[in-house]
Amino acid sequence: MKYLIIYAHPNPKSFNHAIKEQVETVLKKQKKQYSVRDLYMIKWNPVLGGADFKVSEQDKTPEDIKKEQQFIKEADVLIIIHPIWWFGMPAVLKGYIDRVFSAGFAYQYGPEGIKGLLSGKRVVIINTTGGTQEDYLKFGFKDALIKVFKDGIYEFCAMKIIRHVFFFAVPSISKEAREKMLAEIDGLDF
Ligand code: FAD
Repeated sequence: MKYLIIYAHPNPKSFNHAIKEQVETVLKKQKKQYSVRDLYMIKWNPVLGGADFKVSEQDKTPEDIKKEQQFIKEADVLIIIHPIWWFGMPAVLKGYIDRVFSAGFAYQYGPEGIKGLLSGKRVVIINTTGGTQEDYLKFGFKDALIKVFKDGIYEFCAMKIIRHVFFFAVPSISKEAREKMLAEIDGLDF
């Protein structure tokens, strides 16, 4: 079983970075094989440009996209770690999905409609928020994010979301409460 961490946060002192480190510690402890794509570290270009639309023409896929598609091809489980920004994902990750999850690789159009091409792969999402759990439930933000990420992106491409973890209000809670959140990662079965 091969794991791929896709991580999007610019600050190496962030709580998201601590989450990524904790996930790596758990994978190491479980002797799992894994790779990390730290999208800021690799300076991922998130802008879907004209050249990217040539992906369906053989050998015209830009090299940076080809490389990421290979990481995804080789992975059985994707672990996606990022904060919620403007009720979505950071632009760098959105641009990763725009460019890497391309037609012909992640999904395809056919006479029977749209078909996901990444079946067999499983996805774990770990998100942090500024908003409280109470507000996320009260205003439907949690359900909305679950639906968009699940039906709009990952399961649209035929992957299976096995866990979507939210750590709420991380900037305003106590250090101890955040440490408890990190400890929860120890108990996750990836
Ligand atoms: P950080 O701010 O990096 O860290 C939070 C605290 O954790 C800090 O005190 C840090 O020192 C501490 N910390 C770091 N490492 C550890 C550790 N190992 N153990 C314990 N504590 C540690 N929120 C919403 O809910 N909805 C939105 O739509 C939304 N939009 C946003 C848009 C933008 C552009 C931005 C910048 C923020 C937005 N937010 C929103 C808030 C955002 O989701 C949170 O700020 C973010 O999730 C917090 O995660 P972080 O990793 O950035 O935390």
